[in-house]
Amino acid sequence: MIPMGVFVLVWTGYNFPLDKINTGMIALSVVTVFFSSFLRIQLPRTKIHLTISDALVFLSMLIYGSETAIVLAALESLFTSLNFRNKGITIKPKTICLNIAIAAVTTFATAIALKLLFAVPVETVESLGNSQFALTLTAMALCQFLVNSICVSIFISIKSEKSLWEVWNEYCLNALVIYAAGAGFAGVSVKALHQIDMVLFAVVIGFASLLFMTYRRYVDDVKQTAAKAEQAERERAEQAEKHVEELQHHIAEQEKTSEALRESRERFRHAAYHDTLTDLPNRNKFIETLQFQIEKAKHNPQYRFAVLFLDLNRFKTINESLGHSVGDQLILHVAHRLMNLVGKKDLVARFSGDEFAIILTKISGAEDAAQFAELIKQKISSPFTIEGRQIFTSVSIGIAFGNALYKQAEDVLRDADIAMYHAKESKHTYEIFNPTMHARAVTLLQLETDLRHAIERNELIVYYQPIIDLKNMQLRGFEALMRWSHPQRGIVPPNEFIPVSEETGLIIPMTLWILRESCEQLVKWQQRNPLNGLLMISVNLSGKHFARPDLVQQVKQILDETKINPKCVKLELTESAVMDNAETAIEMLKQLRALGVQLSIDDFGTGYSSLSYLHRFPIDMLKVDRSFVSTMEEGTENGEIVRTIISLAKTLKLNVVAEGIESIHQLHQLRVLGCEYGQGFLFSRPIPSHEIDKILDDRNRWQRILPESNLNFMNQGDEISLLHLSQ
Ligand code: C2E
Ligand code: MG
Ligand code: MG
Repeated sequence: MIPMGVFVLVWTGYNFPLDKINTGMIALSVVTVFFSSFLRIQLPRTKIHLTISDALVFLSMLIYGSETAIVLAALESLFTSLNFRNKGITIKPKTICLNIAIAAVTTFATAIALKLLFAVPVETVESLGNSQFALTLTAMALCQFLVNSICVSIFISIKSEKSLWEVWNEYCLNALVIYAAGAGFAGVSVKALHQIDMVLFAVVIGFASLLFMTYRRYVDDVKQTAAKAEQAERERAEQAEKHVEELQHHIAEQEKTSEALRESRERFRHAAYHDTLTDLPNRNKFIETLQFQIEKAKHNPQYRFAVLFLDLNRFKTINESLGHSVGDQLILHVAHRLMNLVGKKDLVARFSGDEFAIILTKISGAEDAAQFAELIKQKISSPFTIEGRQIFTSVSIGIAFGNALYKQAEDVLRDADIAMYHAKESKHTYEIFNPTMHARAVTLLQLETDLRHAIERNELIVYYQPIIDLKNMQLRGFEALMRWSHPQRGIVPPNEFIPVSEETGLIIPMTLWILRESCEQLVKWQQRNPLNGLLMISVNLSGKHFARPDLVQQVKQILDETKINPKCVKLELTESAVMDNAETAIEMLKQLRALGVQLSIDDFGTGYSSLSYLHRFPIDMLKVDRSFVSTMEEGTENGEIVRTIISLAKTLKLNVVAEGIESIHQLHQLRVLGCEYGQGFLFSRPIPSHEIDKILDDRNRWQRILPESNLNFMNQGDEISLLHLSQ
């Protein structure tokens, strides 16, 4: 385009009619350049600037010929470009050259076209007839428009990569009106000038100005509207962007909330299925897994698994004597050892307190489970070091084998639990469940329920069995023994319900009841007759109760409330209750003794008393178990045992009571051995309180058992043996 422009300009320079230069031409040139620079309108949404100079270029073409018009067009283009630059719009020199070239070429092409079309020099067209003149103007406008718009469109199309048609249609088509108007204006101006009708010329100028101003106003309005629309669009876009941001924020917030919700749900789930102390699965989780194993066994009858129910022995004592913190740590250590024993697919759970349960999967038979139980025994029986001290414990394990016949997980667990109780009773490390155990458990359960009712309905009663001073055969006191007056079964002996009450903890309220009842009763008897003032009452204390730290306080309260002389109260403890945890027992015995009561060890000889401890126990009396007394015969082992116990008691400065004296023979022997007190069917069976009233009225009744001469006989020491007496 630029070379073409150069060619046109050179050609124009060469042919320029210098003779035509006059003030009119110079004025027209100045006005053209002036208008092009200042009176310009940018077509809305296009890069096209329109000026009235187009009309003036047409005018110069009509008045002075094509060369003048080309020069003016080129100049106008140059000034317009420079004006852009002054306003700070970047416009490259190459683009300026291009604009000039387009202007020159366009005008040149228009001049050529007019010459070819009408074969007259352009400047003489005013001499044509009106219709011919109008046609010329139309051709001029069209030609100028087409060449210019096509050149501009090519240029924009190359830059914007849009199709030529698209560009032309979008940016240039509107300009046709302006060219038409410009040509019209030029034509009318030429006509007006030639007819020297100044009024008409003024009207034309006025009309043209009016038209130009109106159009400019219109364009401004359009621009303003477009700007407003753009502003509104921008605001809407901003608003939309804001909304999107808000929405994204909202979504992020919601995601955060749901994440937090998910986390807390997981935490809750974990808490619901785990034990807080050890973080092992708890009962719920265990039952769920167990149920799953049962289902598995249903699908595959060959599949076998075992449930092991574990309970630590003497944990309660450890917990209560060494404190709960040590107890907790022991549980943690045990949990840890168990965890290290099981396989990946097995499960260890902690239920409560010292109870654990294990699911052993993939076992081939009973031996596997038994071997595993032995392994547990070994691991648990090696000492635990807690807070600098060594703690020993052992474990009782019940084993139940799972199979498809079980419907519910709880049933397998119940059977393992029953087997565990059997292990505890039998003092074996483990027991394997068999159905007879279940039947017994059901009976025991029924017994427990009945016993609870019995307590509520006051069906428990106290029987009293006299204890006799063997020296003078006088009544020394009574042992309070519990009975259950069952509505159907009659009087139920204690060995049928005491073990259950110990297991269930019912023994504690029962013991407190019998202690209060018998103390009140003794106080009544003592008040009735001063001779009864030295009578004593013995009450049995369960080992379970003995381990309770509040025992001392409970006994003290009963002593205070019944106003009994504490010296008249004797508490009987079994050997195992005190020996199981000797150090704690010594402390407890001291505290009880400080209340003023007497203490005796019941059923002595049946347990495993450590003699090293025995002398440290603050006790007053040993009760020889009736199994030794009942079979006591000259020279037999039992006779020897009784003799040994009595001499041991004498060494330790303890009194001895012999239980279960049923025959005169036994009485004689015991008296010879120097046994201070006796109790047995020979003197009286345990009887209710109203029958004791009769005994109290006949206090010397037992003296009649022995011949007069024997009454004051008592051996003087160990040197008189059973053998001597029988001789
Ligand atoms: P225990 O404390 O050794 O009581 C003595 C038991 O020997 C009583 O049995 C008594 O009736 C029995 N007995 C006394 N003399 C003879 C005799 O000459 N021949 C025979 N064959 N037996 C005799 P009981 O009353 O059946 O009590 C059994 C056990 O039940 C008691 O043994 C005691 O360990 C327990 N017991 C009874 N009452 C209570 C109680 O209130 N609390 C606690 N913790 N245990 C109790
Ligand atoms: Mg007793
Ligand atoms: Mg006894």
